[in-house]
Amino acid sequence: MPIRPIVKWGESVLHAPAAPVERIDAQTAELVRDMIDTMYAAPGIGLAAPQVGVPLRVIVIDLSVGEDPSQLIRLVNPEFVVREGEQKHEEGCLSIPGFGGSPTRPERVVVKGLDPDGNERTHEGTGLLARAFCHEIDHIDGLLFVDRLSPLKRDLMKRKLRKKARAGDWEE
Ligand SMILES: [Zn+2]
Repeated sequence: MPIRPIVKWGESVLHAPAAPVERIDAQTAELVRDMIDTMYAAPGIGLAAPQVGVPLRVIVIDLSVGEDPSQLIRLVNPEFVVREGEQKHEEGCLSIPGFGGSPTRPERVVVKGLDPDGNERTHEGTGLLARAFCHEIDHIDGLLFVDRLSPLKRDLMKRKLRKKARAGDWEE
């Protein structure tokens, strides 16, 4: 079960919208499995396919980081059905190690998509789970939490990130 390298801020795959999965096949299932292993190894609570260099609309989330199998969410072509309320909490990102920021997110979301067997799934999330859905769906739209900060904070952070990306010295 291979762990794939996590792509860091500045790589083009993270900054462009990902394509929908046209057909769910063995390759999709393998991608999802690898994404889960990579997320757990990091460790993290969510991962999107562009973060392992694959420009497809696939996300995985597990707030328990592998402790509770019932919390594992795997979604192909996820989309929002509901976004309501507002919350603001610190977020980090496996593609931007060492940085954090607090974008405004909806308090509650309903997301639908397909599981790796092609069955339609609907998930509801509030609080942290809502933030995780927003963070990961942002990834497949080519957005990172930095892009959702106020212009002042965003520009400041991007200046630091450009330096990191040039030097390639991301702390792990
Ligand atoms: Zn992220």
